[in-house]
Amino acid sequence: DARPDADLLAGLNGPQREAVTYRGPALLIVAGAGSGKTSVLTRRIASLLRTREAYPSQILAITFTNKAAGEMRERVHQLIGQKADGMWISTFHSACVRILRREAEQFGFTKAFTIYDSGDSRALIKRLVKEHEGDSFGLTPAGTQSRISKLKNELADAESYARSANMSDPAERVFVEIFSSYQRELQRANAFDFDDLIAQTVYLFRAFPQVADVYRKRFRHILVDEYQDTNHAQYALIHELTRPVGSDAEPFSSGGMMIFEAEPSGEQAASLTVVGDSDQSIYAFRGADIRNISEFERDYPGAKVVLLEQNYRSTQNILSAANAVIANNFDRKDKKLWTDVGAGDPIIGFTGYSQHDEAQFVADEIEALHKKGVDYSGIAVFYRTNSQSRALEEIFIRSAVPYKIMGGTKFYERAEIKDALAYLVAVANPADGMAVRRILNRPRRGIGDVTETAIARYAAEHGITFRDALANSAQIGVGPKLQKAIDQLDAVLTEATAVMLPASGELAPSSSVTEGLTLLLNKSGYFDALRASKDPQDEARLENLDELIAVTREFARNNPEGTVIDFLTEVTLVADADDLDDASGSVSLMTLHTAKGLEYDAVFLTGVEEDLLPHRISANEPGGPQEERRLFYVGITRARKRLHVSLAMTRAQFGEVTVAMPSRFLQEIPADLIDWRQSPGDVNGRGGSQSRALNARGRRPGQTGGGNRYGDDLVPLPKRAPADPSKFPNRIPAKVRDNGDMVLAAGDRIRH
Ligand code: ATP
Ligand code: MG
Repeated sequence: DARPDADLLAGLNGPQREAVTYRGPALLIVAGAGSGKTSVLTRRIASLLRTREAYPSQILAITFTNKAAGEMRERVHQLIGQKADGMWISTFHSACVRILRREAEQFGFTKAFTIYDSGDSRALIKRLVKEHEGDSFGLTPAGTQSRISKLKNELADAESYARSANMSDPAERVFVEIFSSYQRELQRANAFDFDDLIAQTVYLFRAFPQVADVYRKRFRHILVDEYQDTNHAQYALIHELTRPVGSDAEPFSSGGMMIFEAEPSGEQAASLTVVGDSDQSIYAFRGADIRNISEFERDYPGAKVVLLEQNYRSTQNILSAANAVIANNFDRKDKKLWTDVGAGDPIIGFTGYSQHDEAQFVADEIEALHKKGVDYSGIAVFYRTNSQSRALEEIFIRSAVPYKIMGGTKFYERAEIKDALAYLVAVANPADGMAVRRILNRPRRGIGDVTETAIARYAAEHGITFRDALANSAQIGVGPKLQKAIDQLDAVLTEATAVMLPASGELAPSSSVTEGLTLLLNKSGYFDALRASKDPQDEARLENLDELIAVTREFARNNPEGTVIDFLTEVTLVADADDLDDASGSVSLMTLHTAKGLEYDAVFLTGVEEDLLPHRISANEPGGPQEERRLFYVGITRARKRLHVSLAMTRAQFGEVTVAMPSRFLQEIPADLIDWRQSPGDVNGRGGSQSRALNARGRRPGQTGGGNRYGDDLVPLPKRAPADPSKFPNRIPAKVRDNGDMVLAAGDRIRH
């Protein structure tokens, strides 16, 4: 008479078991890092299926990345021994795209809508800021974009914002105008930006209760991982889905009494399970709201709460460091992680003279670990900002350490890849004028701004799309050469449309995306232009496009019935931790934000310096330093057996050498837990000649060839573009005095 899911419970501790087996409307699992939250969520899904309490199609599980979704699906498959295809395990964004593709026609979009990533939406906002002369009111494209994004995450639109804003301020009026034109342009282009995917789904559910009911009836069990990083729109989405079927109106107030317009029908609301750790909330800058967790019990009265405290990931030394660091955040519930695996190795610390010196330490340690039998794929290096990866890469290449950058390569942000995707969008969603305009003169066809404006004007006058206007080149009144160029582009797009989107009724073959893309790049002359070029960069661009074609082939294999629209959805929703291919056999490099939820045998936390971690920008944000501390906590708790913390006393950036100080967070780790190979004090020294420890090139005076063992004059990498200084406007380099003197007073603060 064993439970059918008994084997799923084997090896779980008491609270974990309870988290898997509890049945009720709402369950909150709060627990520190590595305590099995994600594992428990996975087993809970397996248990619901095994006991036949749920069909796969009744489950909606939300994970943080597509990769995490894939792993969870795979794990459930292993646990129950059968494929559960109808399950929705996906990110918030992917789930909403699926819903919107089905329902878009309800509210003025088509199912072929485009998804604007942040680069696309930046381009549109830039144009609008210019048109509205926003800069004379102090509005920048970046600032405007982030304000709009924040508002959307709060489910505010231009109108509702205008009601609360001070509209006598001209800058506010212009902002509201830009916000509403932005929204109009998106709608006209049949496009959603990232924030819209969630917000518009919420609007859809609120405006069309019968549509919401379809999903409320379908998803009987909703499970959300990393709940601490949900923002208000995501919270509202979950809330809509977990309302009782038939509860088609917000309660409205009448004479002081709350009244439901319609009585909720007999059907129970879906059960909701959320797991999270408020100490790991690191997305406040994107609107994540810890209150979603702390107020869960209020929002879901009678919710069961399970606490997990035993950590199964890390050694006690690592956990003690994590506990000590996070204890410095106020306003949190104290919880202590413990483990029974023992103290383990001490944390290793290292202070480099320069970032190259630091990188060499990391490379040397990795080689040593590798010799001891640690697999490269079990090792990760984390940093706060993407630009830090460059110094690491240079040294790794010299030292022949195989590595893979997660999220940093930004494959889909490269110009040639964006061009190729714009060609696909121009076919899939001809209403998207931005995409068509992007490819108008790529490759160069001699079509300049004047012609583009003429086409746009023609389209506006005739109430047709930019794409349709191309077909009327004769009427636009351009010269014969331009007319020919436009006609050629139009013909290529039409031909590709026939390949990828055959007339209704016919199904495009699974290879249609590959075929269509190849056709577009060949017949548009895009490939020829790159091949004819003498610029060595263009060689790399060709390789990247080949890679993209390879991605379409793989897509066709995995989705035999997938269309060009599905393909575009997939590549647009790739998150930082979702990489083109997996990192097997290589060390993973990534930012701390990307590291969430992952675990590695050995972890290197680099650049643990003031102004970098905590990052300089956080100083001006309310709660910023606390959020940075959580980020550091996330980093520490990724390590299973070995943790390294390192910093560099000087950092060369944008041609200037910055003097760095050890991060305040290092002091928060109990001194006896860190074994300093080279402490900040060793590098800085105290008094005398030691205070002249470094000159501007990071060398000790009197030494030739570099006091840092490896010199700063490294060969630059051919394929990686240098860091973009405009991305770090707040990092003001402190110039080293001309005689090379500098005093690193902070070095004395750390004892060892
Ligand atoms: P994070 O907060 O970092 O997301 P988490 O709470 O989701 O962590 P998991 O990733 O689920 O934790 O688990 C951490 C590690 O502990 C995993 O390797 C998992 O397999 C292991 N683990 C979890 N529970 C147990 C258990 N009862 N026995 C043995 N190992 C376990
Ligand atoms: Mg987890």
